[in-house]
Amino acid sequence: MSDVRPLPRRSIESPARDPRPGLSQILPDELTAWAVAHGEPSYRARQIAEWHWRRYAASAAEMRTVPARLRAALDADVRVDTLLETVVSPADRGLTEKALHRLGDERLVESVLMRYPGGVGCRARATVCISSQVGCAVGCPFCATGELGFGRDLQPAEIVDQVRFWARRLVAEGGHVTNVVFMGMGEPLLNVEAVLAAAAALTDPARFGLGGRHITISTSGVTPGIERLTALAPSWTLAVSLHAARPALRDVLVPLNRRYPVEDVVAAAGAYAAATGRRVSYEYVMIDGINDTTADATAVVRLLQGHPVHVNLIPMNPVAHTPWRPSAPGRIEAFAAVLRGAGIATTIRHNRGEEIGAACGQLAAERAGMPAPDVVRRRRERLEQEGAAALAGRRP
Ligand code: SAH
Ligand code: SF4
Repeated sequence: MSDVRPLPRRSIESPARDPRPGLSQILPDELTAWAVAHGEPSYRARQIAEWHWRRYAASAAEMRTVPARLRAALDADVRVDTLLETVVSPADRGLTEKALHRLGDERLVESVLMRYPGGVGCRARATVCISSQVGCAVGCPFCATGELGFGRDLQPAEIVDQVRFWARRLVAEGGHVTNVVFMGMGEPLLNVEAVLAAAAALTDPARFGLGGRHITISTSGVTPGIERLTALAPSWTLAVSLHAARPALRDVLVPLNRRYPVEDVVAAAGAYAAATGRRVSYEYVMIDGINDTTADATAVVRLLQGHPVHVNLIPMNPVAHTPWRPSAPGRIEAFAAVLRGAGIATTIRHNRGEEIGAACGQLAAERAGMPAPDVVRRRRERLEQEGAAALAGRRP
């Protein structure tokens, strides 16, 4: 646009159609330098930041205290909001809402808001579940996002703006975002630099200002990514999607297991716990007759005993392209009993809000349209064969 220094573009950006970086990924110092380069006093940057991070502005036009000339310059250089359009749909008696966001290159990602009303001795919470990628390359066969395949990495601003979207909506009803979980579409640790940049923006008191303990990053087990987190020793919660402790079965349920074997993932997560003093969560989706046997529970005990962990057992949310069903409640109880008997803290997630991982990924898949019936049939047959081979201890 003008003769002034442009805002920096980071190499982690994907080539979205609009080349302007999102304002949410501009650091405070960079914004100040930009305002000064436009001949404005530095407090103008603070004003813009106030609109962006406290009032969750969706456009420069909303920033009424900022001079029109500077607003125009801002529009020329950055995208105040990287989400072009959002469609919200309610779920679960209005306590849960899902959003489908359209990005600058027409791709779709989703996020979910779950409200937990407060009670006696219990504060109200509002948890936002966000996406880190368009689709996902890992391809877990029980996951609707995995079915979509991989689209592209999200930019830091595209990740942060999902949270700002809900924050803006909550302000209108006098609430605020209390927790953020990276459990939407995508594998956060396969887009680790953007996720770290987003988490930094979300936890910076001068930007979104969320406490580090209120952020959870969920991974299907990218060992180098876990090590990258450990080096920073953050206060975030790490969640590992386990789903099977026996290697042959985990190869099928979490195909990344072939690249990053589960023992190495658990060791890396143990190092994370040691460096941060934070207990690691293990997520285990319960699939009827597949990963819910006593032998599976015993394998989980062997793998995790002695580690400071918390295991969450989640009944599988049925997904159309799989032949699988959720485990029966009695089976889940029995599985939990084996883990608890070995001293492993275990919870069973029954209710809607806690099934957030399951909720994420479904909406965009619906929009993408179901695959043709014969494709679904072939996938189901293959999964049945692979599942049977894995249960017999053979690696596919
Ligand atoms: N890719 C990351 C984070 C996103 S998936 C990961 O896998 O950890 C978030 C959670 O949703 C994961 O624990 C995943 O296993 C769970 N999930 C996916 N599909 C599900 C389904 N059909 N039913 C229940 N949980 C599911
Ligand atoms: Fe990707 Fe997580 Fe879904 Fe597996 S469960 S396909 S890692 S989003």
